[in-house]
Amino acid sequence: MDVEEFRERGKEMVDYICQYMQEMGERRVTPAVEPGYLRKLLPAEAPVKGEPWEDIMSDVDGKIMPGVTHWQHPRFHAYFPSGNSYPSILGDMLSDAIGCIGFSWAASPACTELETIVMDWLGKAIGLPEDFITSTPKSTGGGVIQSSASECVLVSMLAARNQAINHLKKSSPDVDDSAFLPRLVAYCSQESHSCVEKAAMILLVKLRILDPDENCSLRGETLRKAMEEDEAAGLVPFFVSTTLGSTACCSFDNLVEIGPICRAKPSTWLHVDGAYAGNAFICPELKPLMAGIEYADSFNTNPNKWLLVNFDCSCLWVRDRLRLTGALVVDPLYLQHANSDEAIDYRHWGIPLSRRFRSLKLWFVIRKYGIEGLQAYIRNHIALAKKFEELVKNDNRFEIVNDVRLGLVCFRLKGCDSLNRNLLATINASGKLHMIPSMVKGKYIIRFCVVTEKACEADIVTAWKVINEHATDILDSQKP
Ligand code: PLP
Repeated sequence: MDVEEFRERGKEMVDYICQYMQEMGERRVTPAVEPGYLRKLLPAEAPVKGEPWEDIMSDVDGKIMPGVTHWQHPRFHAYFPSGNSYPSILGDMLSDAIGCIGFSWAASPACTELETIVMDWLGKAIGLPEDFITSTPKSTGGGVIQSSASECVLVSMLAARNQAINHLKKSSPDVDDSAFLPRLVAYCSQESHSCVEKAAMILLVKLRILDPDENCSLRGETLRKAMEEDEAAGLVPFFVSTTLGSTACCSFDNLVEIGPICRAKPSTWLHVDGAYAGNAFICPELKPLMAGIEYADSFNTNPNKWLLVNFDCSCLWVRDRLRLTGALVVDPLYLQHANSDEAIDYRHWGIPLSRRFRSLKLWFVIRKYGIEGLQAYIRNHIALAKKFEELVKNDNRFEIVNDVRLGLVCFRLKGCDSLNRNLLATINASGKLHMIPSMVKGKYIIRFCVVTEKACEADIVTAWKVINEHATDILDSQKP
Protein backbone atom coordinates (compact mmCIF):
# COMPACT_ATOMS: atom_id res chain seq x y z
CA MET A 1 0.00 0.00 0.00
CA ASP A 2 1.45 3.38 -0.94
CA VAL A 3 0.62 6.72 0.63
CA GLU A 4 -2.08 7.57 -1.93
CA GLU A 5 -3.88 4.26 -1.41
CA PHE A 6 -3.54 4.73 2.37
CA ARG A 7 -5.07 8.21 2.08
CA GLU A 8 -8.06 6.76 0.21
CA ARG A 9 -8.49 3.66 2.36
CA GLY A 10 -7.90 5.66 5.52
CA LYS A 11 -10.78 8.00 4.68
CA GLU A 12 -12.97 5.02 3.88
CA MET A 13 -12.03 3.45 7.21
CA VAL A 14 -13.01 6.59 9.11
CA ASP A 15 -16.37 6.46 7.30
CA TYR A 16 -16.70 2.78 8.15
CA ILE A 17 -15.95 3.51 11.83
CA CYS A 18 -18.44 6.39 11.94
CA GLN A 19 -21.16 4.22 10.44
CA TYR A 20 -20.32 1.39 12.87
CA MET A 21 -20.55 3.75 15.84
CA GLN A 22 -23.79 5.35 14.66
CA GLU A 23 -25.60 2.15 13.71
CA MET A 24 -24.25 -0.19 16.38
CA GLY A 25 -27.44 0.12 18.44
CA GLU A 26 -29.36 -1.72 15.72
CA ARG A 27 -27.22 -4.85 16.09
CA ARG A 28 -27.44 -7.57 18.74
CA VAL A 29 -25.14 -6.52 21.58
CA THR A 30 -23.58 -9.99 21.77
CA PRO A 31 -22.99 -12.21 18.71
CA ALA A 32 -25.08 -15.31 18.02
CA VAL A 33 -22.14 -17.56 17.10
CA GLU A 34 -20.76 -20.85 18.39
CA PRO A 35 -17.11 -21.53 19.26
CA GLY A 36 -15.14 -22.28 16.08
CA TYR A 37 -17.50 -20.25 13.86
CA LEU A 38 -14.66 -18.28 12.27
CA ARG A 39 -12.47 -21.27 11.41
CA LYS A 40 -15.26 -22.49 9.16
CA LEU A 41 -15.30 -19.16 7.31
CA LEU A 42 -11.59 -18.43 6.83
CA PRO A 43 -8.99 -20.41 4.86
CA ALA A 44 -6.63 -22.67 6.79
CA GLU A 45 -3.52 -21.19 5.14
CA ALA A 46 -2.34 -17.56 4.90
CA PRO A 47 -2.68 -16.10 1.38
CA VAL A 48 0.50 -16.42 -0.66
CA LYS A 49 -0.27 -13.35 -2.74
CA GLY A 50 -1.64 -10.05 -1.47
CA GLU A 51 -5.38 -9.61 -1.80
CA PRO A 52 -7.56 -6.68 -2.92
CA TRP A 53 -8.56 -4.34 -0.10
CA GLU A 54 -12.23 -4.69 -1.04
CA ASP A 55 -12.05 -8.43 -0.33
CA ILE A 56 -10.53 -7.87 3.08
CA MET A 57 -13.18 -5.32 4.06
CA SER A 58 -15.92 -7.52 2.71
CA ASP A 59 -14.73 -10.26 5.09
CA VAL A 60 -14.69 -7.76 7.94
CA ASP A 61 -18.36 -7.10 7.30
CA GLY A 62 -19.44 -10.64 6.56
CA LYS A 63 -17.24 -12.73 8.84
CA ILE A 64 -15.62 -10.65 11.59
CA MET A 65 -18.44 -8.31 12.60
CA PRO A 66 -20.93 -11.17 13.16
CA GLY A 67 -18.57 -12.48 15.86
CA VAL A 68 -17.95 -9.17 17.63
CA THR A 69 -19.30 -8.32 21.08
CA HIS A 70 -20.11 -4.62 20.89
CA TRP A 71 -18.63 -3.11 24.04
CA GLN A 72 -19.67 0.40 23.01
CA HIS A 73 -23.28 -0.66 22.38
CA PRO A 74 -25.95 1.27 24.34
CA ARG A 75 -27.26 -2.08 25.68
CA PHE A 76 -23.84 -3.29 26.91
CA HIS A 77 -23.84 -3.21 30.72
CA ALA A 78 -21.25 -5.89 31.52
CA TYR A 79 -17.87 -5.61 33.29
CA PHE A 80 -16.68 -2.00 33.57
CA PRO A 81 -16.60 0.54 30.73
CA SER A 82 -14.09 -0.06 27.98
CA GLY A 83 -12.93 3.52 27.52
CA ASN A 84 -13.45 4.87 24.06
CA SER A 85 -13.81 8.25 22.39
CA TYR A 86 -13.00 9.81 19.05
CA PRO A 87 -10.05 11.89 20.35
CA SER A 88 -8.59 8.70 21.84
CA ILE A 89 -8.98 6.77 18.59
CA LEU A 90 -7.26 9.64 16.76
CA GLY A 91 -4.46 9.69 19.35
CA ASP A 92 -3.87 5.98 18.82
CA MET A 93 -3.90 6.44 15.05
CA LEU A 94 -1.16 9.02 15.32
CA SER A 95 0.79 6.87 17.77
CA ASP A 96 0.59 3.98 15.31
CA ALA A 97 1.83 6.21 12.52
CA ILE A 98 4.75 7.56 14.54
CA GLY A 99 5.45 3.95 15.46
CA CYS A 100 8.22 4.75 17.93
CA ILE A 101 9.28 2.34 20.67
CA GLY A 102 9.80 4.70 23.59
CA PHE A 103 11.71 2.57 26.06
CA SER A 104 14.22 5.31 26.90
CA TRP A 105 14.27 9.09 26.68
CA ALA A 106 16.65 8.87 23.72
CA ALA A 107 14.46 6.33 21.92
CA SER A 108 11.91 9.13 21.46
CA PRO A 109 12.17 12.11 23.84
CA ALA A 110 8.60 13.36 23.25
CA CYS A 111 7.19 9.91 24.04
CA THR A 112 8.88 9.88 27.45
CA GLU A 113 8.35 13.54 28.32
CA LEU A 114 4.67 13.64 27.34
CA GLU A 115 4.05 10.55 29.48
CA THR A 116 5.62 12.21 32.52
CA ILE A 117 3.63 15.41 31.94
CA VAL A 118 0.20 13.80 31.43
CA MET A 119 0.77 11.47 34.38
CA ASP A 120 1.41 14.60 36.47
CA TRP A 121 -1.73 16.28 35.06
CA LEU A 122 -3.89 13.27 35.86
CA GLY A 123 -2.25 12.59 39.22
CA LYS A 124 -2.92 16.19 40.27
CA ALA A 125 -6.51 16.09 38.98
CA ILE A 126 -7.12 12.91 41.00
CA GLY A 127 -5.53 14.54 44.04
CA LEU A 128 -2.68 12.11 44.68
CA PRO A 129 -0.14 13.00 47.37
CA GLU A 130 2.59 15.40 46.18
CA ASP A 131 5.27 12.70 46.36
CA PHE A 132 3.61 10.94 43.43
CA ILE A 133 3.83 13.98 41.16
CA THR A 134 7.15 14.30 39.34
CA SER A 135 7.02 18.08 38.95
CA THR A 136 6.51 18.95 42.63
CA PRO A 137 9.68 20.31 44.31
CA LYS A 138 10.50 17.42 46.65
CA SER A 139 8.98 14.62 44.61
CA THR A 140 10.55 11.22 44.93
CA GLY A 141 7.97 9.36 42.88
CA GLY A 142 6.16 9.61 39.58
CA GLY A 143 3.76 8.03 37.17
CA VAL A 144 4.07 5.54 34.34
CA ILE A 145 1.60 4.07 31.86
CA GLN A 146 1.36 0.26 31.89
CA SER A 147 -0.77 -2.04 29.74
CA SER A 148 -3.14 -3.24 32.43
CA ALA A 149 -4.05 -3.00 36.10
CA SER A 150 -2.77 -6.57 36.46
CA GLU A 151 0.65 -5.36 35.35
CA CYS A 152 0.49 -2.41 37.79
CA VAL A 153 -0.23 -4.79 40.67
CA LEU A 154 2.49 -7.19 39.56
CA VAL A 155 5.24 -4.57 39.32
CA SER A 156 4.18 -3.01 42.62
CA MET A 157 4.35 -6.40 44.32
CA LEU A 158 7.70 -7.04 42.65
CA ALA A 159 9.08 -3.73 43.96
CA ALA A 160 7.71 -4.56 47.41
CA ARG A 161 9.31 -8.00 47.30
CA ASN A 162 12.64 -6.42 46.42
CA GLN A 163 12.30 -3.88 49.23
CA ALA A 164 11.51 -6.61 51.76
CA ILE A 165 14.41 -8.81 50.64
CA ASN A 166 16.82 -5.86 50.87
CA HIS A 167 15.54 -5.19 54.37
CA LEU A 168 15.98 -8.82 55.47
CA LYS A 169 19.43 -8.96 53.90
CA LYS A 170 20.66 -6.27 56.27
CA SER A 171 20.70 -8.82 59.09
CA SER A 172 21.56 -11.84 56.89
CA PRO A 173 23.80 -10.51 54.08
CA ASP A 174 25.11 -13.92 53.04
CA VAL A 175 21.71 -15.52 52.52
CA ASP A 176 20.61 -15.99 48.91
CA ASP A 177 17.65 -13.79 47.89
CA SER A 178 15.47 -16.76 47.02
CA ALA A 179 15.85 -18.17 50.54
CA PHE A 180 13.71 -15.27 51.86
CA LEU A 181 10.76 -16.02 49.58
CA PRO A 182 9.07 -18.65 51.78
CA ARG A 183 8.90 -16.06 54.60
CA LEU A 184 7.20 -13.31 52.59
CA VAL A 185 3.44 -12.89 52.89
CA ALA A 186 1.14 -10.51 51.02
CA TYR A 187 -2.47 -9.60 51.91
CA CYS A 188 -5.61 -8.69 50.07
CA SER A 189 -9.36 -9.05 50.54
CA GLN A 190 -11.83 -11.56 49.13
CA GLU A 191 -13.09 -8.60 47.10
CA SER A 192 -9.70 -7.89 45.47
CA HIS A 193 -9.33 -8.60 41.79
CA SER A 194 -7.89 -12.01 40.91
CA CYS A 195 -4.82 -10.28 39.44
CA VAL A 196 -3.44 -10.01 43.00
CA GLU A 197 -3.54 -13.79 43.32
CA LYS A 198 -1.88 -14.13 39.93
CA ALA A 199 0.90 -11.69 40.89
CA ALA A 200 1.60 -13.70 44.07
CA MET A 201 1.72 -16.91 41.98
CA ILE A 202 4.21 -15.37 39.55
CA LEU A 203 6.38 -13.96 42.34
CA LEU A 204 6.36 -17.16 44.43
CA VAL A 205 5.10 -15.48 47.59
CA LYS A 206 2.30 -16.40 49.98
CA LEU A 207 -0.96 -14.51 49.74
CA ARG A 208 -3.46 -14.30 52.58
CA ILE A 209 -6.92 -13.46 51.31
CA LEU A 210 -8.83 -11.78 54.15
CA ASP A 211 -12.55 -11.51 54.84
CA PRO A 212 -14.00 -8.03 54.36
CA ASP A 213 -16.72 -6.64 56.63
CA GLU A 214 -20.47 -6.71 55.88
CA ASN A 215 -19.99 -3.81 53.44
CA CYS A 216 -17.32 -5.73 51.49
CA SER A 217 -14.64 -3.41 52.88
CA LEU A 218 -11.33 -4.70 54.25
CA ARG A 219 -10.87 -3.29 57.76
CA GLY A 220 -7.70 -2.44 59.66
CA GLU A 221 -8.40 -4.77 62.56
CA THR A 222 -8.70 -7.81 60.27
CA LEU A 223 -5.38 -6.97 58.65
CA ARG A 224 -3.64 -6.27 61.97
CA LYS A 225 -4.71 -9.63 63.43
CA ALA A 226 -3.59 -11.54 60.33
CA MET A 227 -0.21 -9.79 60.32
CA GLU A 228 0.33 -10.49 64.02
CA GLU A 229 -0.46 -14.18 63.55
CA ASP A 230 1.89 -14.41 60.59
CA GLU A 231 4.71 -12.56 62.34
CA ALA A 232 4.34 -14.89 65.32
CA ALA A 233 4.82 -17.76 62.86
CA GLY A 234 8.05 -16.18 61.56
CA LEU A 235 6.60 -14.71 58.36
CA VAL A 236 7.26 -11.21 57.02
CA PRO A 237 4.26 -9.11 55.85
CA PHE A 238 5.64 -7.27 52.82
CA PHE A 239 2.69 -6.17 50.65
CA VAL A 240 -0.93 -5.17 51.15
CA SER A 241 -3.13 -4.77 48.10
CA THR A 242 -6.26 -2.72 48.74
CA THR A 243 -9.07 -1.85 46.37
CA LEU A 244 -11.04 1.32 45.86
CA GLY A 245 -13.98 0.24 43.71
CA SER A 246 -13.95 -3.56 43.71
CA THR A 247 -14.83 -5.51 40.58
CA ALA A 248 -17.76 -7.45 41.98
CA CYS A 249 -19.65 -4.66 43.73
CA CYS A 250 -17.57 -1.44 43.70
CA SER A 251 -16.80 -1.58 47.43
CA PHE A 252 -14.03 0.43 49.08
CA ASP A 253 -11.38 -0.87 51.50
CA ASN A 254 -10.76 1.24 54.58
CA LEU A 255 -7.43 2.94 53.86
CA VAL A 256 -7.70 5.21 56.88
CA GLU A 257 -7.48 2.13 59.12
CA ILE A 258 -5.16 0.02 56.94
CA GLY A 259 -2.68 2.78 56.07
CA PRO A 260 -1.16 3.37 59.53
CA ILE A 261 -0.75 -0.38 60.08
CA CYS A 262 1.36 -0.65 56.92
CA ARG A 263 3.25 2.57 57.66
CA ALA A 264 4.31 1.25 61.06
CA LYS A 265 6.25 -1.59 59.39
CA PRO A 266 9.46 -0.65 57.59
CA SER A 267 9.12 -3.19 54.81
CA THR A 268 5.37 -3.33 54.14
CA TRP A 269 4.26 -1.74 50.88
CA LEU A 270 0.67 -0.48 50.57
CA HIS A 271 -0.80 -0.68 47.07
CA VAL A 272 -4.15 0.86 46.14
CA ASP A 273 -5.96 -0.56 43.11
CA GLY A 274 -8.49 1.92 41.76
CA ALA A 275 -8.66 0.40 38.27
CA TYR A 276 -12.22 1.64 37.72
CA ALA A 277 -13.09 4.00 40.58
CA GLY A 278 -9.76 5.84 40.62
CA ASN A 279 -10.79 7.83 37.55
CA ALA A 280 -13.79 9.23 39.42
CA PHE A 281 -11.57 11.01 41.93
CA ILE A 282 -11.12 13.82 39.40
CA CYS A 283 -14.51 14.95 40.78
CA PRO A 284 -14.02 16.90 44.02
CA GLU A 285 -17.18 15.48 45.61
CA LEU A 286 -15.85 11.90 45.17
CA LYS A 287 -12.41 12.45 46.72
CA PRO A 288 -13.65 11.40 50.19
CA LEU A 289 -13.83 7.86 48.76
CA MET A 290 -10.03 7.81 48.64
CA ALA A 291 -9.51 8.98 52.23
CA GLY A 292 -6.23 7.52 53.49
CA ILE A 293 -4.49 7.66 50.09
CA GLU A 294 -1.65 9.52 51.81
CA TYR A 295 -0.48 6.17 53.22
CA ALA A 296 -0.16 4.52 49.79
CA ASP A 297 3.16 3.51 48.27
CA SER A 298 1.54 2.98 44.87
CA PHE A 299 -1.80 3.62 43.19
CA ASN A 300 -3.24 2.54 39.85
CA THR A 301 -6.23 3.52 37.77
CA ASN A 302 -7.23 2.65 34.19
CA PRO A 303 -8.29 5.58 32.00
CA ASN A 304 -8.97 2.75 29.55
CA LYS A 305 -11.87 1.83 31.79
CA TRP A 306 -13.56 5.02 32.89
CA LEU A 307 -11.85 8.01 31.33
CA LEU A 308 -12.68 7.67 27.65
CA VAL A 309 -9.22 6.39 26.67
CA ASN A 310 -8.94 3.25 24.56
CA PHE A 311 -7.20 0.16 25.84
CA ASP A 312 -4.37 0.09 26.70
CA CYS A 313 -3.74 2.85 29.19
CA SER A 314 -3.30 1.81 32.80
CA CYS A 315 -1.73 4.45 35.02
CA LEU A 316 0.54 3.59 37.93
CA TRP A 317 2.01 6.12 40.35
CA VAL A 318 4.62 5.32 42.97
CA ARG A 319 5.74 7.31 45.98
CA ASP A 320 9.40 6.42 45.48
CA ARG A 321 10.54 5.73 41.92
CA LEU A 322 13.89 4.31 43.05
CA ARG A 323 12.13 1.59 45.05
CA LEU A 324 10.28 0.64 41.85
CA THR A 325 13.22 0.78 39.46
CA GLY A 326 15.45 -0.92 42.05
CA ALA A 327 13.60 -4.13 41.24
CA LEU A 328 13.67 -3.70 37.47
CA VAL A 329 16.93 -2.13 36.26
CA VAL A 330 19.09 -3.99 33.77
CA ASP A 331 21.38 -1.85 31.69
CA PRO A 332 23.02 -3.30 28.58
CA LEU A 333 25.23 -0.96 26.58
CA TYR A 334 22.91 -0.95 23.56
CA LEU A 335 20.16 0.70 25.63
CA GLN A 336 22.31 3.34 27.31
CA HIS A 337 22.43 6.94 26.08
CA ALA A 338 24.17 10.22 26.82
CA ASN A 339 21.28 11.61 28.92
CA SER A 340 20.66 8.53 31.07
CA ASP A 341 21.52 10.40 34.29
CA GLU A 342 19.03 13.25 34.07
CA ALA A 343 16.23 11.74 31.94
CA ILE A 344 13.56 9.19 32.77
CA ASP A 345 13.95 5.85 31.02
CA TYR A 346 10.57 4.12 31.35
CA ARG A 347 12.11 0.75 30.44
CA HIS A 348 13.13 0.62 34.15
CA TRP A 349 9.53 1.17 35.35
CA GLY A 350 7.91 -1.98 33.99
CA ILE A 351 8.31 -5.44 32.50
CA PRO A 352 8.39 -4.97 28.69
CA LEU A 353 11.20 -3.12 27.02
CA SER A 354 9.17 -1.88 24.07
CA ARG A 355 6.46 0.66 24.79
CA ARG A 356 3.88 2.37 22.58
CA PHE A 357 3.31 6.14 22.56
CA ARG A 358 0.26 5.71 24.81
CA SER A 359 0.41 9.12 26.44
CA LEU A 360 -0.66 10.69 23.15
CA LYS A 361 -4.23 9.42 23.38
CA LEU A 362 -4.49 10.35 27.07
CA TRP A 363 -3.21 13.83 26.24
CA PHE A 364 -5.69 14.18 23.34
CA VAL A 365 -8.58 13.14 25.59
CA ILE A 366 -7.65 15.41 28.50
CA ARG A 367 -7.16 18.38 26.17
CA LYS A 368 -10.28 17.83 24.06
CA TYR A 369 -12.68 17.27 26.98
CA GLY A 370 -10.88 19.25 29.67
CA ILE A 371 -11.13 18.08 33.27
CA GLU A 372 -14.63 19.59 33.39
CA GLY A 373 -15.78 17.55 30.41
CA LEU A 374 -14.43 14.36 31.97
CA GLN A 375 -16.08 15.20 35.29
CA ALA A 376 -19.39 15.69 33.48
CA TYR A 377 -19.00 12.25 31.85
CA ILE A 378 -18.35 10.53 35.21
CA ARG A 379 -21.21 12.39 36.90
CA ASN A 380 -23.62 11.42 34.14
CA HIS A 381 -22.78 7.73 34.65
CA ILE A 382 -23.30 8.02 38.39
CA ALA A 383 -26.63 9.82 37.96
CA LEU A 384 -27.78 7.10 35.54
CA ALA A 385 -26.71 4.33 37.94
CA LYS A 386 -28.77 6.07 40.63
CA LYS A 387 -31.72 6.19 38.24
CA PHE A 388 -31.39 2.45 37.59
CA GLU A 389 -31.11 1.79 41.34
CA GLU A 390 -34.35 3.74 41.85
CA LEU A 391 -36.17 1.67 39.19
CA VAL A 392 -35.01 -1.55 40.83
CA LYS A 393 -35.96 -0.34 44.31
CA ASN A 394 -39.45 0.55 43.13
CA ASP A 395 -40.09 -3.05 42.10
CA ASN A 396 -40.51 -5.19 45.19
CA ARG A 397 -39.64 -8.39 43.32
CA PHE A 398 -36.01 -7.18 43.29
CA GLU A 399 -33.36 -6.13 45.78
CA ILE A 400 -30.24 -3.94 45.53
CA VAL A 401 -27.13 -5.60 46.92
CA ASN A 402 -24.42 -2.91 46.86
CA ASP A 403 -24.01 0.64 48.03
CA VAL A 404 -24.39 2.45 44.69
CA ARG A 405 -21.79 5.19 44.80
CA LEU A 406 -20.45 5.15 41.24
CA GLY A 407 -21.69 3.63 37.97
CA LEU A 408 -22.24 0.03 39.10
CA VAL A 409 -25.51 -1.38 40.42
CA CYS A 410 -25.67 -4.93 41.83
CA PHE A 411 -29.18 -6.32 42.00
CA ARG A 412 -31.08 -9.61 42.09
CA LEU A 413 -34.54 -11.05 42.12
CA LYS A 414 -35.53 -11.87 45.70
CA GLY A 415 -35.24 -15.63 45.79
CA CYS A 416 -32.68 -18.29 45.13
CA ASP A 417 -29.47 -18.08 43.10
CA SER A 418 -30.78 -20.35 40.34
CA LEU A 419 -33.68 -17.98 39.70
CA ASN A 420 -31.18 -15.18 39.10
CA ARG A 421 -28.90 -17.41 37.03
CA ASN A 422 -31.88 -18.22 34.87
CA LEU A 423 -32.87 -14.56 34.54
CA LEU A 424 -29.39 -13.48 33.47
CA ALA A 425 -28.98 -16.41 31.07
CA THR A 426 -32.24 -15.64 29.25
CA ILE A 427 -31.50 -11.92 29.03
CA ASN A 428 -28.01 -12.53 27.65
CA ALA A 429 -29.28 -15.17 25.20
CA SER A 430 -31.79 -12.67 23.82
CA GLY A 431 -28.93 -10.44 22.61
CA LYS A 432 -30.99 -7.43 23.74
CA LEU A 433 -28.84 -6.58 26.76
CA HIS A 434 -25.54 -7.81 28.12
CA MET A 435 -24.69 -8.07 31.84
CA ILE A 436 -22.49 -10.38 33.90
CA PRO A 437 -22.95 -12.01 37.30
CA SER A 438 -20.92 -11.95 40.47
CA MET A 439 -21.11 -13.26 44.03
CA VAL A 440 -21.71 -10.59 46.65
CA LYS A 441 -22.13 -11.45 50.33
CA GLY A 442 -22.51 -15.10 49.38
CA LYS A 443 -25.31 -14.47 46.89
CA TYR A 444 -25.42 -14.68 43.10
CA ILE A 445 -26.09 -11.16 41.83
CA ILE A 446 -26.38 -9.40 38.48
CA ARG A 447 -24.06 -6.47 37.77
CA PHE A 448 -25.45 -3.53 35.81
CA CYS A 449 -22.77 -1.04 34.83
CA VAL A 450 -23.30 2.21 32.95
CA VAL A 451 -20.78 1.97 30.17
CA THR A 452 -21.15 3.97 26.98
CA GLU A 453 -19.93 7.52 26.63
CA LYS A 454 -23.24 9.05 25.67
CA ALA A 455 -25.45 6.90 27.91
CA CYS A 456 -28.73 8.65 28.68
CA GLU A 457 -31.89 8.10 30.73
CA ALA A 458 -33.69 6.47 27.79
CA ASP A 459 -31.00 3.73 27.74
CA ILE A 460 -31.58 3.01 31.41
CA VAL A 461 -35.34 2.87 30.95
CA THR A 462 -34.94 0.51 27.96
CA ALA A 463 -32.56 -1.76 29.89
CA TRP A 464 -34.95 -1.90 32.83
CA LYS A 465 -37.84 -2.74 30.48
CA VAL A 466 -35.89 -5.72 29.07
CA ILE A 467 -34.99 -6.95 32.57
CA ASN A 468 -38.54 -6.46 33.79
CA GLU A 469 -40.11 -8.39 30.92
CA HIS A 470 -37.74 -11.33 31.33
CA ALA A 471 -38.29 -11.37 35.09
CA THR A 472 -42.06 -11.42 34.58
CA ASP A 473 -41.79 -14.31 32.11
CA ILE A 474 -39.60 -16.34 34.45
CA LEU A 475 -41.72 -15.68 37.52
CA ASP A 476 -44.93 -16.45 35.57
CA SER A 477 -43.48 -19.71 34.29
CA GLN A 478 -42.89 -20.79 37.87
CA LYS A 479 -46.48 -20.24 38.96
CA PRO A 480 -48.36 -23.49 39.56
N1 PLP B 1 -8.46 -4.38 39.45
C1 PLP B 1 -9.78 -4.13 39.42
C2 PLP B 1 -10.43 -3.45 40.60
C3 PLP B 1 -10.53 -4.44 38.28
O1 PLP B 1 -11.84 -4.21 38.26
C4 PLP B 1 -9.88 -5.07 37.19
C5 PLP B 1 -10.65 -5.44 35.99
O2 PLP B 1 -11.79 -5.16 35.83
C6 PLP B 1 -8.51 -5.32 37.29
C7 PLP B 1 -7.83 -4.97 38.43
C8 PLP B 1 -7.76 -5.97 36.15
O3 PLP B 1 -7.67 -5.04 35.11
P1 PLP B 1 -6.78 -5.30 33.82
O4 PLP B 1 -7.66 -5.99 32.85
O5 PLP B 1 -6.41 -3.90 33.35
O6 PLP B 1 -5.60 -6.09 34.19
